[in-house]
Amino acid sequence: MSPGSLKDWPLEEQIPLFSLLGDTRESIGVSLTESLLMTPTKTISGIWFATEESFESCQLCPREECPARRAPYDKDLYEKKYYKKTSE
Ligand code: SF4
Repeated sequence: MSPGSLKDWPLEEQIPLFSLLGDTRESIGVSLTESLLMTPTKTISGIWFATEESFESCQLCPREECPARRAPYDKDLYEKKYYKKTSE
């Protein structure tokens, strides 16, 4: 999952993520710009985690015609798996 790919983890979350990583310019040559994108271009930030089933953020992203899409959008997935009703 990457900051900015889902509304639940907006691009502004690049700031705390990069603060956890330390001096990324020195260690891996990646810098966070003022617009919260990264250089070099095509750098991806995020968190990889183990799951019992495959998951890509793209499954929850409705952006059409994205050249980087890794999985089809599933419009019902969020409600089915990640949304918990609190008023019951
Ligand atoms: S469809 Fe594109 S914009 Fe949406 S999460 Fe996947 S790669 Fe990111």
